[in-house]
Amino acid sequence: MLKIPFNSPYQTGSEQTYVLDCLSRNAIASEGLYTKRCANILEKSFGIAKVLLTPSCTAALEMAAILCDIVPGDEVILPSYTFVSTANAFVLRGAKPVFVDIRPDTLNIDETKIEAAITQRTKVICPVHYAGVACEMDSIMAIARKHRLMVVEDAAQGVNAFYKGRALGSIGHLGTYSFHETKNYVCGEGGALCINDERFFERSEIIREKGTNRSQFIRGVVDKYTWVDTGSSFLPSEIACAFLAGQLENLEPINDQRRRVFETYNRELSTLFEQGKLRGPRIPTDCKPNYHMYYILLESQPVRDALMQHLRSQGILAVFHYIPLHRSPFATTLGSNHFHLPYTDDLSGRLLRLPLYASLTDDQCRSIVQAIGAFSQSMQ
Ligand SMILES: *Cc1c(COP(=O)(O)O)cnc(C)c1O
Repeated sequence: MLKIPFNSPYQTGSEQTYVLDCLSRNAIASEGLYTKRCANILEKSFGIAKVLLTPSCTAALEMAAILCDIVPGDEVILPSYTFVSTANAFVLRGAKPVFVDIRPDTLNIDETKIEAAITQRTKVICPVHYAGVACEMDSIMAIARKHRLMVVEDAAQGVNAFYKGRALGSIGHLGTYSFHETKNYVCGEGGALCINDERFFERSEIIREKGTNRSQFIRGVVDKYTWVDTGSSFLPSEIACAFLAGQLENLEPINDQRRRVFETYNRELSTLFEQGKLRGPRIPTDCKPNYHMYYILLESQPVRDALMQHLRSQGILAVFHYIPLHRSPFATTLGSNHFHLPYTDDLSGRLLRLPLYASLTDDQCRSIVQAIGAFSQSMQ
């Protein structure tokens, strides 16, 4: 009976052509034509020195943790209001997550609270660009320079979004992208590591090739390849990259569709906004977003939950996320459940994400907003 799903991966048409071409070439492991084409598009479009495609953003974050030489006892500063992979990548290497509260406007890490969280053991700051809206990167990079810390941008949601004209993922020492089917540009499962600091160029290739110098061998720099470092297999399939090429060649058409949906929500919800019943996303002037997400903030958690139920009864799937990481069962075992994060606790309970995908029609948006309006009438 579900009429409007929460997400629906969008295909431009070229994906099928490229996947079939990939199959007919019969070269389907990594680093073929399409893996390279995707890396090229990302490097050129976003001004990134070096991009390595990976099987997921999670894998790219794990590579970043290895490149930052995380050892047990190190501390990593990140928001609690994020997906588990942001923390897990560092926890896997023995680091302790240090959670910082979010800003009430963008729900991004509050840059003014980062310095107080730095200790002798801090090694990395990991800002997460929530909903494809940039964190305050100038301040974060200045803090990192002052304290000699690395910055890894979790730009899973930030592909084709910008901060002061610079692409998200291109600003920190390292950045990570996701091409999971719920993100803006997709290939089922996929990701990329953006390498903005040249000291990581060589080692990033080695870590991705199971700790061998196979990439140098393929380029003819060495005459045989062997085990030179720790590593794993962080290579995506060429078949997935063929699919992704069809998406990345259409960065702007896909973005235009998402912007249309986002602006339709803004327009249709404006009366409810004026009545002060709820609010939508806020985008600082320095940020050019990619319309990854449309969320509304309700007055309380019970109202949010009741609205979510109401929409479900109308066949509309709206969802919330995340249970803040410091509230999770695993945070208890890490001893990191003691953080005092009032905005994280408050906002995560009141937030509801509305369906947003390129093929969602304006009429569907209007019927979603009508259902929200009817619910809000019934609350009076
Ligand atoms: C989706 C997401 C990830 C994980 O991406 P995968 O490609 O599924 O591994 C990590 N961080 C954030 C903030 C995300 O939204």
